[in-house]
Amino acid sequence: MKKQKLSALLLAAVMATGIIAGCSSTSSSTSVATETSSTAQSSTSVVANTSAEDLTVDVLVIGAGGAGMSAAMQAVQDGATNVLIIEKMPITGGNTVRATGGINAAETKLQEEMGIEDSVELFVSDTMTGGKEMNDEELVTVMAENSSDAIDWLIDLGADIGDVGMSGGASVKRIHRPEDGSAIGPVVLSTLSENLEANNVPILLETTAKHIVLDDNGAVSAVEVEGPDGDYTIYCTAVVLATGGFGASQEMVVKYNENYAGFSTTNHSGATGDGIVMAEEVGAALVDIEQIQTHPTVNPDTSTMYTEGVRGDGAILVNVNGERFVNEMETRDVVSAAILAQPEEYCWLVFDETVRGNVAAIETYISAGLVEEADTVAGLAEKIGVDAATLEATISSYSGYVSAGEDADFGRNTDSMVTDFTTPNYYAAKCVPAIHHTMGGVKINTETQVLNDAGEAIPGLFAAGEVTGGVHGGNRIGGNAVTDIVVFGRIAGTSAEEYVLANGGNTESTIVVETQQDAVPEVQGDYTDGVYTGTGKGNNGDITVEVVVEGGNIVSITLVEHAETVGIYEAAEKAVVNEIIRTQTVDGIDVVAGATNSSNGIMQAVTAALADAQAADAAA
Ligand code: ADP
Repeated sequence: MKKQKLSALLLAAVMATGIIAGCSSTSSSTSVATETSSTAQSSTSVVANTSAEDLTVDVLVIGAGGAGMSAAMQAVQDGATNVLIIEKMPITGGNTVRATGGINAAETKLQEEMGIEDSVELFVSDTMTGGKEMNDEELVTVMAENSSDAIDWLIDLGADIGDVGMSGGASVKRIHRPEDGSAIGPVVLSTLSENLEANNVPILLETTAKHIVLDDNGAVSAVEVEGPDGDYTIYCTAVVLATGGFGASQEMVVKYNENYAGFSTTNHSGATGDGIVMAEEVGAALVDIEQIQTHPTVNPDTSTMYTEGVRGDGAILVNVNGERFVNEMETRDVVSAAILAQPEEYCWLVFDETVRGNVAAIETYISAGLVEEADTVAGLAEKIGVDAATLEATISSYSGYVSAGEDADFGRNTDSMVTDFTTPNYYAAKCVPAIHHTMGGVKINTETQVLNDAGEAIPGLFAAGEVTGGVHGGNRIGGNAVTDIVVFGRIAGTSAEEYVLANGGNTESTIVVETQQDAVPEVQGDYTDGVYTGTGKGNNGDITVEVVVEGGNIVSITLVEHAETVGIYEAAEKAVVNEIIRTQTVDGIDVVAGATNSSNGIMQAVTAALADAQAADAAA
């Protein structure tokens, strides 16, 4: 395999860990990569290629979410020496950073310690039932068989996963999660990030894969990319496509299933289905592409998703009349459909202090002002405009079911009936279903090889995670996304490295990052963690954004609502949002030519949201 010289590749660190935006990229942060100095690597592996020179690697992973990072890490553990991850956003993490609930796994040591009886067969059967039997059973079986090992792998790499709970669609306690109640996505990502960093695996941010290039034999030979400073080519032996789903692309959502036109989304703005388009260009087959999942409990104004754990740990759903209407632990499609069948097509997620104490994520919802609170059920009813007597009656009969150990109305699994609602305060959060997961995608086999319409593998092309289809069939059950990305990400890493060994072997990495952390002053945000919304004036009306602050840093900015002209606001969104995340401030950001009003509107909206983040800081 040919290998080009990188005599003066300019690299600038932009962040120190995988999920938190950090440093500015300036010329003072230069470092030089050479072919020979690979031993001089320092710890920061998240870099930006500020030159537009071509690169050559053995394994190119496209997408720095959970699947891509798992693939890269496993490839390195299998002996790969020249692995590169590219990521189009200014931060890593993708949708994975938003995964809150946990990771499903069967026959694990933790389950055994806790006396939970589970089996691979039961996990397969729950997943197939949840997926309406449309899933590829072979893929599901591989996922279930490797799930316990995935937990051990994550724990060995340093992840805190010490608890097991109930989740919708599972017959037994199977969802593995951090013991301190933290969200699973950030835990998995920071664990993988640290290990990738320790192994000097570079991640090029703001680098978008555009096209996969095949050679004359139809095997992968390169990927054309667009970096911050222009287009270039990354030559490679194997590609792992880990670009996630298309839940943030209204255009693709409507193209594949027009029933979801106009739905809001829980997805990060990079979930635009690029990998599906690129794979199709080189002949990949798609599977179940019209299967799109809504998450039932999403705030209608901010698109904040209330994790399934809130229901798993005891919350109930009531409609605008104050009545329960569904088994809250049913699969997402069933609960979503039930909500849409209620008057006014929304509902309330209702819980008490016991549930609040059990689910750490609830604090974020409360601090973002998304939850109504009262010290009595009647007081809560008044706050949410529901008939107090009906809500009291609903809660009293549910409380009776908890004592009796049987939900006489909807047959809810008693393991999830954790509270009898006798512990004030009482809380309610408004919910609607929103697009959450795209089950369909690129067709793969159990080795994650991407298949064409004839069922043949495209040599050198592997895919894992939400970009693929088949694992979840017609409906993904809660906790299976993280299992999917870790299990199949790891398989993709192994398959890609095996392919490299069979096609020329490993080469030395040419990408070297020197003393990045010393050279580059970190730009850290100084905000209070939470989810904030703000509104600004765009070209055609109001623009509302949701700003997520984690670890003091702005980690995502999502446009919740706007009336801007398609094709114009996207340019503003991409540039302005990326720049704000990169610099952690709205100050000094340039408007995008041709989209001045949209740019200003986004900046105004973010400023308004950040005012709350700072006000919260001042109050704290
Ligand atoms: P998964 O759960 O399958 O890992 P995620 O959404 O967590 O999916 O991660 C996918 C990542 O891929 C995201 O960070 C996204 O920004 C990135 N990505 C999507 N398209 C491209 C592209 N064309 N080039 C580089 N990165 C991409």
